[in-house]
Amino acid sequence: MTTLHTPAQDARSTADQHLLTTDNRDAYRAGMTTAVDLVADRLAAVRRPQTGVRPADLAHEVDAVDLDTPLPDTAAALDELGRLWLRDAVWFHDPGYLAHLNCPVVLPALAADALASAVNSSLDTWDQSAGATLVEQKLVTWLADRAGLGPAADGVFTSGGTQSNLQALLLARDEACARLRRARPGARLPELLGGLRILASDVGHFSVVTAARLLGLGEDAVVAVPTDHGRRMRVDALAAALADLREQGLEPMAVVGTAGTTDFGSIDPLPAIADLCAEHGAWFHVDAAYGGGLLVSPTRRHLLAGVERADSVTVDPHKTFFQPVACSVLLVRDGASLRHVTHHADYLNPETAPEPNQVDKSLQTTRRFDAVKLWTTLRVLGADGIGAMVDRVVDLAAETWPLLDVHPDFDVVVRPELSTLVFRYVPAERLPEDDVDELNRHVRRSLAATGEVVLGGTTVDGRAFLKTTLLNPTTTGDQLVAVLGLVIRHAEAWLAAR
Ligand SMILES: *Cc1c(COP(=O)(O)O)cnc(C)c1O
Repeated sequence: MTTLHTPAQDARSTADQHLLTTDNRDAYRAGMTTAVDLVADRLAAVRRPQTGVRPADLAHEVDAVDLDTPLPDTAAALDELGRLWLRDAVWFHDPGYLAHLNCPVVLPALAADALASAVNSSLDTWDQSAGATLVEQKLVTWLADRAGLGPAADGVFTSGGTQSNLQALLLARDEACARLRRARPGARLPELLGGLRILASDVGHFSVVTAARLLGLGEDAVVAVPTDHGRRMRVDALAAALADLREQGLEPMAVVGTAGTTDFGSIDPLPAIADLCAEHGAWFHVDAAYGGGLLVSPTRRHLLAGVERADSVTVDPHKTFFQPVACSVLLVRDGASLRHVTHHADYLNPETAPEPNQVDKSLQTTRRFDAVKLWTTLRVLGADGIGAMVDRVVDLAAETWPLLDVHPDFDVVVRPELSTLVFRYVPAERLPEDDVDELNRHVRRSLAATGEVVLGGTTVDGRAFLKTTLLNPTTTGDQLVAVLGLVIRHAEAWLAAR
């Protein structure tokens, strides 16, 4: 007689094999070990930050996977990923990786991240997280203390600087609306929103504009304040813009000071911006997604002076605290301002709940325990250990800048305050500007194609520039000099082939 397999039996056997349960401890160990071995083996083989693979090269391999036909086991699936992903992945620990704000990651954070995935605590409520909630809260308080935000400060971990900025501006919007309503009781929301403006420098992050759109203000609500030669917000221009808004009867709802612009690492004059915000009753948000690492710098904390006067601060530990993605924090001076995102759901976090429920402070509901990575890192390296690595990459930029500055064939935009260098190759023979643009774009492309070096690229005053974002504390000055040598070599080859 044949036994009939019922769906319930199938589910039971699948579950018995694949769920993390008491009985599956050995399978768990084996699966994790296979994954760790795969990465360790790749690390042994990696010689370049990327292979130069093109989308078309990989697309057919990915396309060929039949997602409706499973492989025999995890080892086989990981092996397949080795081909589809790891073989050609972009590696941020390689000194040739210089493109974006990606950091090599520290080992304690990786171990802690494995715990976060396995235990799967969710930080929205105490009854899904227990101790994890307290760990996050303590870490938020610690960061807020480092920023100097005072005794009422609070905050929450988020998925990234984009989300931290969005939440900060949401709080600012609702504070402004509450203020306006006191003057105009009964005013409807759309009437209030139309008059709100956000001011940020002309090299502020685009997520500020995205936030304005999401918050119902429209992108035109963001006023771009001009920057000086160091790409820092001009205080006189900010004062003029604020006065101008007042004259038009518009409400400067927030000023965003960027502490570490994405392109230049420039730091806006935070104390002067704080003064103007106080004068105009505007919310002062500091976007320190990049510069936040200075909070633990043993030698350069002073560069963030003025951050202690912010109403809110964005910090991205997945940039300058060497954490795996995602790890970002929004800090606020007055914890009570977080009420603007609070919603009490009867099933989740009723108003009468006696326990701390972090969902009261967050735009997310189910939320990963990202704080545990940074916590574990701090417990192992200490703040000074992380800060020393931040200092190292800032030093590296400072040491390399003079070489670019005096070199006859390089044009460098600003003397770095953080760890980026933005420059272009300008040949001795005079070329039309458009050709110089093409030359620099070519250098970036041809270097990337070899896989040896991944440079960043950006546009400055309408012209094409190259960029190195230094976030690897093991990179040496000599290695950077070698990269500049490669830039020259590829530039000369382009010139010769013309
Ligand atoms: C990277 C960055 C952001 C966005 O952060 P994500 O974590 O990428 O979402 C915002 N502001 C600045 C200044 C940044 O450098």
